[in-house]
Amino acid sequence: MRAMFKELNPPSRVLMGPGPSDVHPRVLKAMATPLIGHLDPSFLQIMNETMELMRTVFETKNELTLAMSGTGSSGMETVFVNLLEPGDKVVIGVNGLFGERMVDVAERCGAEVIRIEASWGDIIRPEQVEEVLQEHAGVKAVAVVHAETSTGALQPLSEISQLVHEHEALLIVDAVTSLGGVKVGIDENEVDACYSGTQKCISAPPGLSPVTFSRRAAEAMAKRKSKVQSWYLDLSMIQNYWGQERFYHHTAPISMNYALREALRIVMEEGLENTWERHWKLGRALQSGLEGMGLSLHVAENIRLPQLTSVYIPDGVEDTLVRKQLLEQYGIEIGGGLGALKGKVWRVGLMGFSCQPRNVLLFLAALEEVLA
Ligand code: PLP
Repeated sequence: MRAMFKELNPPSRVLMGPGPSDVHPRVLKAMATPLIGHLDPSFLQIMNETMELMRTVFETKNELTLAMSGTGSSGMETVFVNLLEPGDKVVIGVNGLFGERMVDVAERCGAEVIRIEASWGDIIRPEQVEEVLQEHAGVKAVAVVHAETSTGALQPLSEISQLVHEHEALLIVDAVTSLGGVKVGIDENEVDACYSGTQKCISAPPGLSPVTFSRRAAEAMAKRKSKVQSWYLDLSMIQNYWGQERFYHHTAPISMNYALREALRIVMEEGLENTWERHWKLGRALQSGLEGMGLSLHVAENIRLPQLTSVYIPDGVEDTLVRKQLLEQYGIEIGGGLGALKGKVWRVGLMGFSCQPRNVLLFLAALEEVLA
């Protein structure tokens, strides 16, 4: 029986799907560093440094900036369970799968969800937000997805942020796919609560969710009348571990914290602006290459992300067969469409360490071969 299980030896892949992305060898090396205890003074120092790095990448001075244990969805739940109490009104922009997931999470908090819809591939317009905020009094928060990974649309934040604050509501932003790929600008855009993930443009493995909260959001949490419904995600306790008190809450995933720290250090070494520029430049090169092959892109250019491109599958081409060939013959992973886009588009990621000129060329050449 034992002989059946060989030593782990996964195939070599180029990760160009909607996430995870390729991980920098330095991050993998950091993960192989021996463990220390999660209350060891040295680990506390590592946490402090990681918090500082997260603030820099989020572009914020927010004190309450930490990494939740869990993938991006744990960050999503953290934001909603801590900010919303049963009966609270929350407006959610739904223009893809992850807006839909926010609705599900908010409803599970007992919130009254008011949806703003846009078609998959489009963005939420400020006029829609304004109309809803005028119609519904006492909205506590408005939530949008900055980079909709299910479509490849980039949601502008600043006008919506202004409207949300004019109505004294909080702005919640999903930056799982945007952070480290395009500018998020937490302070500049006055975002009140934001969550991200480690496995997209930050290029660490999946497993942590960086979150950040403004003073306004922290005050709203402090005024809660009811206990946060999730023990594991209750920030009132978790911030005592990440804060000065260092109270034990749960055992921090040590190796993932090593990974996040190293991945953020790599982003900082390149420089945030340079990182964004690399994503824009190579994203646009990939998109031009696809159009040059006669393929059409799903999202309009002015709202199109560089790090995730939805490209229409040409008529008569078998979706899964092409992806299988890319994987088996070239080692390239790309994503299929979700929801209404299933079987209609491929989703090609150029995130973090995967966003390299050689990958753009490799993918375009491989796709051309496979489609020939
Ligand atoms: N939000 C967005 C925009 C995402 O792309 C994802 C994952 O792809 C999530 C949330 C959920 O993150 P995870 O799958 O890491 O839980």
